[in-house]
Amino acid sequence: MLSEKCYELGSKSSIIREIFAFGQMRKAQVGPDQVYDFSLGNPSIPAPPSVKQAVMELMDTPAEEVHAYTAASGDLQVRRTVAESLNRRFSEEFTEEGIFMTCGAAASLNISIRALANEGDEFIVFAPFFPEYRCWVEGAGAILKVSRPEACGFQIDFQNLEQLLSPKTKAVIVNSPNNPSGVVYSEETIRRLAGMLEKKSKEYGSPIYLITDEPYREIVYDGIQVPFVTRYYRNTMVCYSYSKSLSLPGERIGYIAVPGRVQDYKRLMAAIGGAARMLGFVCAPSLFQQVVGRCVEETGDINAYKRNRDLLYEGLTRLGYTCVKPQGAFYLFVQSLEEDAYAFCQRAKNYDLLLVPSDDFGCPGYVRIAYCVAEKTIVGAMPAFEKLAKEYKQGQLC
Ligand code: PLP
Repeated sequence: MLSEKCYELGSKSSIIREIFAFGQMRKAQVGPDQVYDFSLGNPSIPAPPSVKQAVMELMDTPAEEVHAYTAASGDLQVRRTVAESLNRRFSEEFTEEGIFMTCGAAASLNISIRALANEGDEFIVFAPFFPEYRCWVEGAGAILKVSRPEACGFQIDFQNLEQLLSPKTKAVIVNSPNNPSGVVYSEETIRRLAGMLEKKSKEYGSPIYLITDEPYREIVYDGIQVPFVTRYYRNTMVCYSYSKSLSLPGERIGYIAVPGRVQDYKRLMAAIGGAARMLGFVCAPSLFQQVVGRCVEETGDINAYKRNRDLLYEGLTRLGYTCVKPQGAFYLFVQSLEEDAYAFCQRAKNYDLLLVPSDDFGCPGYVRIAYCVAEKTIVGAMPAFEKLAKEYKQGQLC
């Protein structure tokens, strides 16, 4: 007998992957320039030149050093470099002990959730949320609770959050800049969230942890600042990844950062080690630990994403589409022109316009457009968006 839970997860691929696979098939049929594929969050800008330089230099170091197992939590010097960089940039006090190198944000989150969860514990996420959270939380035997967003703007609805918090709440997961809305939580929002979690932790007599999922931390526009959450809330675990900031999604590299003042710090770091062990996520890729250690404060040139955001936002709002202007990440979350976003995406497919319906993000009635694409894809897609909108305006639906 197989695990039914695993079978179910593995036999139906995510809607994002499904649409991406359809796009690959269409590109083979009609040519890549005729398909406007906005499905996947694969960075479209190259990794900074320093990444290539680091790889080349590392290839000249003895193979038994660079390809060897590191400590389960990662190379000591790399962890120290990451801690020092965070301290410099965010006036923090991390030590190498509080840094655990991981295989990207997926592993950072899985490990963090698993380190905290006991059967039946609750984890609260804010819609719209990254769909994999469900699989990671439920995989740990815990329960996912979804807090709805404010009516406009996708900020936190604190009234709704308060209703969901309970003595069973083990952690709250925030993702800012957000996939799929592009919203960045303001300092005021983070302060208010911290205040509410502190009050409730005291009331329940046990800490509610705040897990921050931040693979898009550096991808922000117009001088927006992303508050560094550990400075506002004591019991914070930072889950980071270099997948987006260094355009290295296939290399699987990131970290968990835990400040020393977190309640039960020593036991939590041991539980993180145990969770990584349980999941087989020990010793993140050795070569890329060294690479990020050498490029720790580098970021790809995000100007291309900003140009894409502006082109798409201005173009779509001119055509009558409704969306919040993203402050960060590389997604636009647009209101579907019919209630059923899935049906809307099917209709968009007729124009080879590949969009992702929002249902799995916990926020029905929208579509996600990943604009980490070539500029010409956006320019080429505009007539298709126009024809699609016209279908709805003219009531030509059949
Ligand atoms: N969290 C969010 C919000 C994401 O968008 C992604 C990837 O797109 C991940 C986590 C997983 O990131 P990684 O590829 O580093 O595992």
